[in-house]
Amino acid sequence: MAEVTLKGIEKTYPNGFKAVHGVDLNIREGEFMVFVGPSGCAKSTTLRMIAGLEDISEGDVYIGDRRVNDLPPKDRGISMVFQNYALYPHMSVYENMAFGLKQQKLAKAEVEQRIAEAAKTLDIEHLLKNKPGEMSGGQRQRVALGRAMVRKPDVFLFDEPLSNLDAKLRVSTRVSIAQLHNDLKAEGQNATMIYVTHDQVEAMTLGDRICVLNQGQIMQVDTPMNLYQYPANKFVAGFIGSPAMNIIKVRIDDIDGVMNVIAESGHRWELPKQKQGLARQRTGEWVWFGVRPEHIQLASDFTSPCEVNTQRHKIDVVESMGNELYLYFQLGGDRMISRIPFDADRLVSGGDSALLKFRVSQCHLFDLDTEETLGQEPVGLKRP
Ligand code: ADP
Ligand code: MG
Repeated sequence: MAEVTLKGIEKTYPNGFKAVHGVDLNIREGEFMVFVGPSGCAKSTTLRMIAGLEDISEGDVYIGDRRVNDLPPKDRGISMVFQNYALYPHMSVYENMAFGLKQQKLAKAEVEQRIAEAAKTLDIEHLLKNKPGEMSGGQRQRVALGRAMVRKPDVFLFDEPLSNLDAKLRVSTRVSIAQLHNDLKAEGQNATMIYVTHDQVEAMTLGDRICVLNQGQIMQVDTPMNLYQYPANKFVAGFIGSPAMNIIKVRIDDIDGVMNVIAESGHRWELPKQKQGLARQRTGEWVWFGVRPEHIQLASDFTSPCEVNTQRHKIDVVESMGNELYLYFQLGGDRMISRIPFDADRLVSGGDSALLKFRVSQCHLFDLDTEETLGQEPVGLKRP
């Protein structure tokens, strides 16, 4: 059981490339923290510094109250699970799981008991005699999880553990990892988990909190819902959520005392009440305007095309997800996406023109240069 604290962590690789630029983060005891960000943003580098697999150029890493910068990996109370399983091919599942424990010189009975428990939890009891080569990717990853579990670490470190699995296994193994975290908590073990992924769906579903990284810097740390509802900047807004938020350049305009935003294409939206004040201070300025796909809906058949924030657009492409549709349309030079529930009575096809209602009460505005979020949170929604 341990919290993990990063203080001013930096990493410069021997070739001079600076991958991590001053990361400060406290991961609470028992917390499931996800590092998410695009490929190359230094998720693995940061995780490997916590693990002790990579030197720390600047700053300090604490696990519990111990500064671990100079401790070898085996003394840090961590277990790591990698994308490529890293199992010993010539050993059976049982031997793979027992290997680290034997090195710790644990009694045989204790080793047997821990492996039996983990195998039961992960549903791999029937595989204990198999070699890794005789198993599917999903089974191998369960074994790798089991090998991490039996060490009873204070901190689990995961580096994209599901990336090699097909879509279905990815989901079921993801649920197993969430279950493992819950089970350990219920047993009072309260294991801290740090989980690296480039997949924002994994991040959203697994994380108690998510740390969004970009180019070796933290963009925002918060709960999944807060990241979604209150992105601190344009990067987080565009990264969290699928399909991604529509973000276009607009000018703030005062139309008869009511603040609007106007795109280069000439399309115009009236801003909601809670954004009127801050927009007024920036009259005439260009900003980024963000609207999530689910906040662009088909207007009802009875809606007047003149109604506020309602616009007619030619739908270029319709993608059907079964339960919902993605409508793509062009707004000046920007491709926009609307996400609507499937309704058999109101079919839309590519080439159709559709009346779309923008629900701007949950729109976002970002400074054009700093890309930081402008203004306050939506009324009625409180941050914890
Ligand atoms: P991520 O896991 O987020 O995809 P990494 O932590 O692997 O990113 O890499 C972060 C950055 O550091 C990348 O630009 C990568 O090319 C660079 N990098 C990684 N390892 C080394 C290395 N050994 N030497 C130099 N640069 C490296
Ligand atoms: Mg990586």
